[in-house]
Amino acid sequence: MYNSKSEKAVEFIHDGEILRVLDYAKENKNNKPLLEQILRKGAEFRGLTYEEATVLLECEDEDILEQIYALAKKIKEHIYGNRIVMFAPLYLSNYCINGCRYCPYHGENTHMPRKQLSQEDIVREVTALQDMGHKRLALETGEDPVHCPIEYVLESIRTIYSIKHKNGAIRRVNVNIAATTVENYRKLKEAGIGTYILFQETYHKPTYEYQHPKGPKHNYEYHTTAMDRAMQGGIDDVGIGVLFGLYQYKYDFVGLLMHAKHLEDTFGVGPHTISVPRIRPADGIETAEFPNAVGDKTFKKLVAILRIAVPYTGIIVSTRESEQSRSEVLEVGVSQVSGASCTSVGGYADREKAHTEQFEIEDTRTLDEVVGWLMDTGHIPSFCTACYREGRTGDRFMQLAKAGQIGNVCGPNAIMTLKEYLMDYASPETRVKGERLIEKEVAKIPNDKVREIVRERLVKLEQGERDFRF
Ligand code: SF4
Ligand code: SF4
Repeated sequence: MYNSKSEKAVEFIHDGEILRVLDYAKENKNNKPLLEQILRKGAEFRGLTYEEATVLLECEDEDILEQIYALAKKIKEHIYGNRIVMFAPLYLSNYCINGCRYCPYHGENTHMPRKQLSQEDIVREVTALQDMGHKRLALETGEDPVHCPIEYVLESIRTIYSIKHKNGAIRRVNVNIAATTVENYRKLKEAGIGTYILFQETYHKPTYEYQHPKGPKHNYEYHTTAMDRAMQGGIDDVGIGVLFGLYQYKYDFVGLLMHAKHLEDTFGVGPHTISVPRIRPADGIETAEFPNAVGDKTFKKLVAILRIAVPYTGIIVSTRESEQSRSEVLEVGVSQVSGASCTSVGGYADREKAHTEQFEIEDTRTLDEVVGWLMDTGHIPSFCTACYREGRTGDRFMQLAKAGQIGNVCGPNAIMTLKEYLMDYASPETRVKGERLIEKEVAKIPNDKVREIVRERLVKLEQGERDFRF
C-alpha cells in the first residue's frame, strides 16, 4: 500500500499509486476546468501535489502549455529573481564496481583508464577551478570501497577547503557519492559538506534493476532509501534527480515528486535541489539503446512543471545540455547551472591527458563565456554560498523565500560575488558588462539599509577585500 512516510522504498515510491496517477492524468488531460484550477493553485506559489502536476504533464493543449510556461516563468522570477547559481563538478575517482549500463565508468569497461586523484592532484585541480572563478563544487566519484573509501572522500574534502590560491576559495563542497550508511553520512556532515546529491536514475524498479545489473547499486531498496539515511545522519540539504530517458519520463516524474513528498512528510524538509540530466552519448553507450530518451520540447515541459510543483526547490542543469537547451529551461525554472565543466578525472589541470569523460559535454564554453552569456540573457551569475556558511540549511531557504527576503539576501549576495568574479577572473569585455549590470541591480535592492551596505562593500571589494555576505 502507498504510504508516503514508510521506511520502505516500495511503499513511498509505490508502483500501483504511480500507475493510478498516470491513468487519472490521462483521463483528465482535456479537463479544462481542472487544468485551470491547478494553474490557479500553482500561481499561489504553494506548489502542487504529484497528482496535479501529472495532469499538467499529460496535457497537450497548446493554450494550456503556454499558460504553464508563463506561470513557471513568473514563479521563477518571483522566488529566485534573475540569479543563476554557478557550480562545477569535480571528478575524484572513476574506479567503480557497479555495472550501470548507461555509464562508461561501469566496472566491466576495460577501455576506460582508471584514476583516483591524489591529494596533490586535487590541489592542482582545485587551483585550476579557483583560477576560473569557481566557488562551489560538486564532488563526483564512482563506487569502490578499495579505491575510493569514505576516508579518502573526507580527506579530499578537507584538502579542497584548505586550498586558497590568490583570492580563490572553494566555499561549498556538495557531494555526489554512492548510497552509504548513516554513520558515513554523519561523517560527511561533520566534514562540512553542502548538499548530498544522489540521483535515483529511475524509480521504475524493474528498469532500475536491469540498468544496474551488478554491484551494491543493484539494490533498489538501499539506493532509494539513501536520502532517509542522509537525513538521519544530520544532512538536511539533499539533492535528488532522475536520469531522464532510462524509463518512461512520466513515470519517473511522478516518482521524483513522490520522493520529494516522502522526505517532506517524514523529515519536514523536501529536497534542496532536483537535477534533470538526460541520457547523453558517452564511451560505449549508444542513445539508440534508450528508446525513452526525452526530446527538447518534453524536457522544457518537465522543467516548467517541476518549477510550478516544487517552487522552493532549486533546479539544476549541467553542461550535458547545449547552450540552446539551457536557454530554454533557464527561462522556465532552472536556478543552478554548471559552467566550463570537465567530466573526466584530472581534466581541469590537464584536459589533454584526461581521456576519461563520464559523458560528452554539449556546452563547452569557458566560464567567462557562460558568465557573459548569462548576463546577455538578463541573468545575474551568482557565486553565492552564503546560506550554508551562515548555517541556513534545510528548509531555511524556503523561510527566506517565504519571508520575501530573497531580494535583500540572495540578490545582494549575487551582486557581491559577481563583483569578486569580475575583479579577479573576468575578461575585460565581461567585466564591462558586469559592472553595468551591477549598477542596475544595486538600484533594485528593496531595503535602503541593505542597498547602502552593498554599495560600501562594492567599494571595499575594489580595494581588495573579499568574501562579504548576508
Ligand atoms: Fe559507477 Fe556511478 Fe557510473 Fe554507475 S553511474 S557505473 S555507480 S560511476
Ligand atoms: Fe542560495 Fe542562500 Fe546565497 Fe540565496 S543567500 S543564493 S539561498 S546560498
